[in-house]
Amino acid sequence: MTTTIAHFIGGRPVAGRGERSAPVFNPSTGEQTATVPLASTAEVDEAIAIAKAAFPAWGTTTPLRRARILNKFLRILEERTDQLAESISAEHGKVFSDAKGEVQRGIEVVEFATGAPHLLKGEVTENVGTRVDSHAFRQPLGVVAGITPFNFPAMVPMWMFPVALACGNCFILKPSERDPSASLLIAEWLKEAGLPDGVFQVVHGDKEAVDALLLNPDIQAVSFVGSTPIARYIYATATSTGKRAQALGGAKNHMVVMPDADLDQTVDALMGAAYGSAGERCMAISVVVPIGQTTADALIERLVPRVRALKIGPSTDPEAEMGPLVTRAHLDRVRGYIDEGVAEGAELLVDGRGFKMQGYENGFFVGGTLFDRVTPEMRIYKEEIFGPVLAVARADDYATAAKMINEHEFGNGTAIFTRDGDSAREFAHQIQVGMVGINVPIPVPMAFHSFGGWKASLFGDHHMHGPEGVRFYTRLKTITTRWPTGIRSGAEFVMPTMK
Ligand code: NAD
Repeated sequence: MTTTIAHFIGGRPVAGRGERSAPVFNPSTGEQTATVPLASTAEVDEAIAIAKAAFPAWGTTTPLRRARILNKFLRILEERTDQLAESISAEHGKVFSDAKGEVQRGIEVVEFATGAPHLLKGEVTENVGTRVDSHAFRQPLGVVAGITPFNFPAMVPMWMFPVALACGNCFILKPSERDPSASLLIAEWLKEAGLPDGVFQVVHGDKEAVDALLLNPDIQAVSFVGSTPIARYIYATATSTGKRAQALGGAKNHMVVMPDADLDQTVDALMGAAYGSAGERCMAISVVVPIGQTTADALIERLVPRVRALKIGPSTDPEAEMGPLVTRAHLDRVRGYIDEGVAEGAELLVDGRGFKMQGYENGFFVGGTLFDRVTPEMRIYKEEIFGPVLAVARADDYATAAKMINEHEFGNGTAIFTRDGDSAREFAHQIQVGMVGINVPIPVPMAFHSFGGWKASLFGDHHMHGPEGVRFYTRLKTITTRWPTGIRSGAEFVMPTMK
């Protein structure tokens, strides 16, 4: 039995009217569980028109009232975390505990957004000139859109819409068509919390729906998270039509292991960072760079048995450390990269290609995989695999490791493991990457900071959530005021200057 998923438009579920749809799978079993409609341009335009009509009232609702609605939503999320996490696991394949972690990181952005009255406080200067005052405040943009990837179907939308709504915008979410159900729970719960109809809507779809959002003149800003080729396209297209855009792309995150690092701690950190969520995280560590052959050999000696012992299982297995990949096509792609690594001459120490999950033979499983002696010329080094495949790229010294990272196309996250403050400081200050961990493998900034990478990992000027999110979803207005003292002074014809 498969279900048919609806859009959420104008405050209620709305069936897709178009001819096109896509299957949604349970990655653990490989079975199709639902069909998701792919919206036509006309359907997207209707949702935008509804949002546009809702904006004047929402944009002028006081920040305090908007925050109260987000506060109610927060309480609902806290009560129903398990329900949302189950929905994520069922369509994404990540294990339940990991899905709960994702929801928690999203909840933190909602907590941040409930500070709307404070976040939107402006600036005032008394006497910018004699008896002249200036004040500045930030106003909402209007209707904004979010286009999100499959790997965090709740958290990534929550990087965007809580802040956008808190600032007074209407938000249209185009979630990933591979795991669309979490977005509908969110839409229903926002309505239950008191959000007026049309302020938050969900339109499912693929390129046609995305293009409709990018080209409609009533969309003021576009937030995107996904792969780099699409991020580049989204940024170029949105900005060419005069929209504000932030487009976060792919990643290839390196962890440098200095000779003085605590190797047991490093290996623990690496296992979670490389294989958690089956490597389908934009902040996953996919390359480890041990410094010196002794460090490399000692690291590998510890890593190999751990990778072989990874507990893999269906997303419902509470003991599992890692679930399946999201789709069969992605499974084939990841296996293809492992073939490619072997052909390129990397040393395959643990091979996940043959892994079969007993009782779940049709699931999209691949085992944990470990390569040694990976070099910067190889495709498995240059490209994002987005699977449980860790590459060891040995470097003789710190400078070589730093050069590898700085010359890589991507600059999302990176980490250094060391006991030496000097190396750590040098790394933090000089490395060309947006998010840096010092003995922290996945340095995802908290909600009150902002998330974003450099280079091909982010197109645009603003990172997501935190203070950068508030800036992205608002525009600044500065008002200069003078109250005349009556008719005592006449007209002035010279260029005004502050007296
Ligand atoms: P994707 O680029 O395939 O899809 C992302 C979104 O774009 C989806 O909503 C999809 O429907 C839409 N889309 C796909 N093809 C399109 C096209 N041709 N035109 C217009 N829209 C299109 O990404 P994905 O596979 O869902 O997610 C994985 C990718 O996301 C990885 O590259 C990962 O690194 C990246 N990611 C990055 C971050 C970050 O913070 N930088 C966070 C999470 C995921």
